[in-house]
Amino acid sequence: MSVNPVRNSNNVLNPAGIIIAPNPVAEQGGIISNGVSVVSVRNFSFQYNSEEVLADVSFEIGKGDYVGLVGPNGSGKTTLIRNLFGLLRPSAGTVSLFGRSLVEFHEWHKVGYLSQKFMASYHHFPATVKEVVSMGLLSTKRFPKRMGSPDDAAVEKALARMDILDLKSRLIYELSGGQQQRVFIARTIVNEPELLILDEPTAAIDPETRERFFNILRDLHHQNQTTIILVTHDIGSVGTYASKMMYVDKRVIFYGTFEAFCQSVEMTSLFGSLSQHLICHRHG
Ligand code: ADP
Repeated sequence: MSVNPVRNSNNVLNPAGIIIAPNPVAEQGGIISNGVSVVSVRNFSFQYNSEEVLADVSFEIGKGDYVGLVGPNGSGKTTLIRNLFGLLRPSAGTVSLFGRSLVEFHEWHKVGYLSQKFMASYHHFPATVKEVVSMGLLSTKRFPKRMGSPDDAAVEKALARMDILDLKSRLIYELSGGQQQRVFIARTIVNEPELLILDEPTAAIDPETRERFFNILRDLHHQNQTTIILVTHDIGSVGTYASKMMYVDKRVIFYGTFEAFCQSVEMTSLFGSLSQHLICHRHG
């Protein structure tokens, strides 16, 4: 997707309830669906060396939200995601998960993360499929980290969901690229995290695996009220299930409901009417 950003410098809430604001949190009374904040970012800025990459970012993501995070290449999406995990430190502001600032947050078993880059780095790992998927459960355990039969059942369920139960004893590096991707998706969902953060997870995935993956996300979202943040260039997929959309370009240009996104004239000017239509048309 190539976009030609047009920045809106007005701090306005338009009649459709769309927030086009440098700092939306101050006026986003309707953004949290049910009062439970899973991700809270306040007055956040980030610099690499002295170069400002993100500025004046504030938003809340509530329990059960499914947020499509979009923006041009180099707009700061991955940087924002890495800050949510505490992998980078903000130059200003705070990030909280489940009501706790990252400094105090320890419940990492509640959080699942998947990125194409992560998958690529594990291709030569000397472990079986079952072992790789079991690793997704380790963050839920205290020392000594032993696996029991409920864990085996969870691993088998995740493998079955991805239709790779028959591969469980195979070594990961013997598998095809598509099979490996299914294994890493199974690893991410095996402990059914409450917050799933997905950074371009389907960039190089075959269509069948992609469809299966999005169906599983939909089930987790509906059945477990899993909160999902999906960074993607795949405009067809993001429009299928997202309940909210965030458009980032060095700051939050837009954050609002999916419906508001589809009615937004500002978003039409950023995406072009065809891309916006593709996102909105497939929603259902
Ligand atoms: P996106 O995910 O939206 O493509 P990124 O968050 O990866 O954007 O990058 C945002 C900006 O930060 C870009 O200008 C990129 O060149 C820069 N950047 C990313 N990583 C680094 C880094 N490790 N050091 C310096 N600059 C970086």
